[in-house]
Order: sequence, then C-alpha cells, then structure tokens
Amino acid sequence: MTAARNTAAVPRPGRAAAEERFAEILGALDTDFLDVLGWDWERRVLTYPREHPVLGLPDCPVPNCTLAITVATLPMCRGCMERWSKSGVALEEFLLIPKGVSRGGRAASVCGRAV
Ligand SMILES: [Zn+2]
Repeated sequence: MTAARNTAAVPRPGRAAAEERFAEILGALDTDFLDVLGWDWERRVLTYPREHPVLGLPDCPVPNCTLAITVATLPMCRGCMERWSKSGVALEEFLLIPKGVSRGGRAASVCGRAV
C-alpha cells in the first residue's frame, strides 16, 4: 500500500469542523505573547524582536548588513554567507568590507546590472 492510498483513506474534516478547530486554536493563543513575537495578523508573519534576550537574533557582523544571524552555527546571515562563499576572500577580510561593495571574485549585481 502506498502513502497516497493511506492519505486518501483518512477522512478529511468538513469545513465546519475545520473552522471550529481553527477557532479553538485562535482561542488558545496568547495574544500578549504574539505581540512580543511581532505577529502581524494581516501578513501572517512573525517579526522576532531582535533585541529580545531570549527570542532575539544576533546582528550580522558585516558592515551595512541589516539582517540577523538565523543559524547559530554560522558567523553571519545567510545572504552574507552566500556572498562570502562565492567571493574567495578570507572570512576575516570579508567581515571588514561593507555590504554592497564588491568582494572580489564575481562583482555584486542588482537587478542583473554590475555594481
Ligand atoms: Zn549579513
């Protein structure tokens, strides 16, 4: 028996049951905590407070980079990690070059134009 057959055999809740479950979940949410998390109901996006002692994320150390380090084992944000991996520049040197400046190797580009 395949996974698809197993999934098809499971009854799916009707719209009323799904809306009831959704209402239960909404009722269980701690709105004060959602405020701390920066939850945006319209966009359905969390914006973690960078300065929060537990939830916050460290700033990327690359000058002029406004992003945070989201992977604790990495020395900088993912975007800077990607640029560094393509640059051929030593990490210590890369961390001194402001974001937006070419780091050797391939030129930085915006919308397909060389910067
Ligand atoms: Zn960065």
